[in-house]
Amino acid sequence: MADRKTPAAAPPAEGFRRADQILDALRRRRAEPGADCASECQAIHFEHDEIAERLRRSEREHGGVGFELLFAGTDVDTPEPWKSLPLDQTIERLKTAKARVARDVIVLVHHYQNEAVYSFGDFGGDSFLLARKAASQPDRRYIVFCGVHFMAETARVVCHPDQVVILPSLGAGCSMADMAKPEDAEDAFDALRSLARPGRTVIPITYMNSEAALKALCGRNGGVVFTSSNAETAFRWALARSGDVQLLCTPDEYLGRNVARRLGIRDDEMVTWNWMGHPPLGGCPREALAAARVVLWRGLCHVHDMFEPRHVELFAERLPRATFLLHPEVRPAVVEEAGRQARAGAIAEVRLGSTEAIKKWIEQGNPGDVFVVATEWNLVNRLALDHPDRRVVFMADVLCKCSTMNRITPRGLLWTLETIERKLRGEEVALPNVIDVPMDVRRDANVALQRMLDLPPG
Ligand code: SF4
Repeated sequence: MADRKTPAAAPPAEGFRRADQILDALRRRRAEPGADCASECQAIHFEHDEIAERLRRSEREHGGVGFELLFAGTDVDTPEPWKSLPLDQTIERLKTAKARVARDVIVLVHHYQNEAVYSFGDFGGDSFLLARKAASQPDRRYIVFCGVHFMAETARVVCHPDQVVILPSLGAGCSMADMAKPEDAEDAFDALRSLARPGRTVIPITYMNSEAALKALCGRNGGVVFTSSNAETAFRWALARSGDVQLLCTPDEYLGRNVARRLGIRDDEMVTWNWMGHPPLGGCPREALAAARVVLWRGLCHVHDMFEPRHVELFAERLPRATFLLHPEVRPAVVEEAGRQARAGAIAEVRLGSTEAIKKWIEQGNPGDVFVVATEWNLVNRLALDHPDRRVVFMADVLCKCSTMNRITPRGLLWTLETIERKLRGEEVALPNVIDVPMDVRRDANVALQRMLDLPPG
């Protein structure tokens, strides 16, 4: 894990190289009593003494579990005896189980997944690429999705009905997706239609990070799904649908505002629909709601919300040559501050892009380049490992990890793969955590997903 000479590249499919690195790191830690979680972090470009100290304290207080929490996630619903397996034994057994089920199972892993699980993926990517991959593997009976619930649901929608989609932990939800309940969004959509002036079309559009039933609402009503890669294209497409359009954009207010601003939509043309406590008309004045071009759902990602404008200032001061790479789920105030610093010449450049775009920008960089990155820690950490000749720095002094995604653990994955293996041998066992989506929801959600796939390149 701490080997900084890891070559660039890396869909995780290449054998068990990463898993072996984690085993090495585990064994090194046991051999050297002084080694701790924070020193592992520092070996991978971890820049903040204050975080390192916090991790050390946590290691001491929790009996040395910090390393596992960082690199192997948190077991929430893995059953015994898997739950109590030591991590090194788990990794060794995973190698065997993975090889045995390889013909029937594809393991898809999201970029934000912890290192230990990521190392057993056949394919790594963002939610969009993983959905496409799931749809293109009809020969694999089982799709084991190491992401969060809405991603596994999307795989269920797009893959063949005979395939089985499994999420190794049902605790792996998404706090943002949970903020937009489909029935609440449906109520909002009905209210907006009833307020719409004659000739106006209300179009619901939703970020990939939403429940399948919300995607289905968009499919039934002329809307589309978008991802952080194609959000601008999707907004433009929807706004061009008819002469007078109002967009209902769920569930991420920040991403919606960041994208709409880039398209020249002013803040006074947008309103925020508050779902919390269900105030009448989302807490908006009737006139403002009727006039708005874009209605933004009041949702956010708790991980990306942790980046603050002060972090931009901090790193602009520390690393004035750096290029700042921001995920569009960060607060608009963070994007504003980075723009201000770039215009003032305090930093080299600021770019706003999806996880895939951030990954590509770093890959296409040159030795010696400095990147300050605002997105989930596991991905930034991996990019730093894969590009030791570039300086890849995490833009915060707090640890922004997707805690729900990290409920997918090596032990949970082992439980899943060993149960599939028994099933393949003909044993009568119940498969854990199979994801299902009703057929009518699949059909309508697929319409909105297909519209997304048909969008022109951005
Ligand atoms: S990083 Fe945020 S948006 Fe992405 S899965 Fe985690 S909670 Fe959801």
